[in-house]
Amino acid sequence: MSEKRLKIAVQKSGRLSDATLDVLKRCGLRINQSKNKLITHVKNMSIDILFVRDDDIPGLVMEGVVDLGFVGDNIMQEVSLQRAKFGEQAEFRQLISLDYGNCRLSIATTEEDVFTSIKDLEGTRIATSYPYSLGRYLDEQGVSAKIVHLTGSVEVAPRAGLADAICDLVSTGVTLEANGLREDEVILRSSATLVQRPIIEDETRQELIDRLIVRINGVMQAKESKYIMLHAPADKVDAIIDLLPGSETPTVLPLAGSEQQVAIHAVSKETVFWETMESLKQLGGSSILVLPIEKMLA
Ligand code: ATP
Ligand code: ZN
Repeated sequence: MSEKRLKIAVQKSGRLSDATLDVLKRCGLRINQSKNKLITHVKNMSIDILFVRDDDIPGLVMEGVVDLGFVGDNIMQEVSLQRAKFGEQAEFRQLISLDYGNCRLSIATTEEDVFTSIKDLEGTRIATSYPYSLGRYLDEQGVSAKIVHLTGSVEVAPRAGLADAICDLVSTGVTLEANGLREDEVILRSSATLVQRPIIEDETRQELIDRLIVRINGVMQAKESKYIMLHAPADKVDAIIDLLPGSETPTVLPLAGSEQQVAIHAVSKETVFWETMESLKQLGGSSILVLPIEKMLA
């Protein structure tokens, strides 16, 4: 029975863990989280969650050991290149690009170095945890450099005399700056992504995946969207609707005891800025409310 349960791999502890569990919980999965356990059975659905290192997720998905994985694009790409090189199965299906885990894989040199183009790195040593992604990029650019493979502390490599440049993940750039490095060239942009193993034979499991995809998309949309309610002069309805960002077919309702005023309700797929609210007020809008949306199903 238990092998019929859908298996989802998530990062055990790291930058993607909290956001991933948050998405799954918002999708209605009751997860009793005990982070020291490798596997957790979801109480209310036929799903098991596996907590593993992010580097192991692509292989587990590609080998079909798990059905789904939440992981960074960067790791998917790196492991795909590596596995393809060794003739191992490297197929997977990318299902949803998620809105967290945003970062870029960049080449950085020390602040004292002059960098005009990637060609300047010809004949240098570049330290990275992403040897395959970097190798491919250098090949594409026709640059030959020595790749120094480090699994951690890449940013200290130039200062330690291990390399002339680095290729590492950057989000804010604070770590680079703290180590006297300057971001010179972005080689890949990444975010968290939901991936599926190449083939799901079992129809029930595929149906469960499809339901989950609809829910995850709903969670993503809800996070971006807002519900706007306001009172408006009846003769300004069109002008007010034009101002509401990214909203489709708002609802216009009569207000009890007033001929001149109506209520407008709308879902906005974008952030509602203070400036928009001020413009709504200038058009005669009042009692303007902007509310978060918890779930959405189109
Ligand atoms: P594990 O123990 O699971 O191997 P890790 O140390 O390799 O963890 P984390 O640092 O938790 O991994 O990063 C996980 C993912 O978060 C990265 O692969 C990347 O997709 C994303 N990420 C977002 N911003 C950054 C950043 N500034 N530095 C590193 N990773 C980032
Ligand atoms: Zn890792």
